[in-house]
Amino acid sequence: MEIILVGLLVALVSMVAAGVVARNKGRSACLWVVIAFLLGPIPLIVLLVLPANQEALESQAVQAGTMKHCPFCDEIIRAKAIRCSHCGASLEYKG
Ligand SMILES: [Zn+2]
Repeated sequence: MEIILVGLLVALVSMVAAGVVARNKGRSACLWVVIAFLLGPIPLIVLLVLPANQEALESQAVQAGTMKHCPFCDEIIRAKAIRCSHCGASLEYKG
């Protein structure tokens, strides 16, 4: 009986941890929760080794409003930046 409870606890912790790590790495939290549900803690180890999906993270930051695209070089920069850190263009509005 206790072994079943321990197994359920491990599965639950693996699912939550996989979801959190996947989200923080720009990957599908739902997909990784399902994989962790099916395979236990092994997908969590795989997730920790996988590199972050930078494109998805940047897209999320742009949608959240903390980052924006430079209108001159299209690189991702901070939303409050007044000068692009990539191309050096001035983004300050003179009005
Ligand atoms: Zn730029």
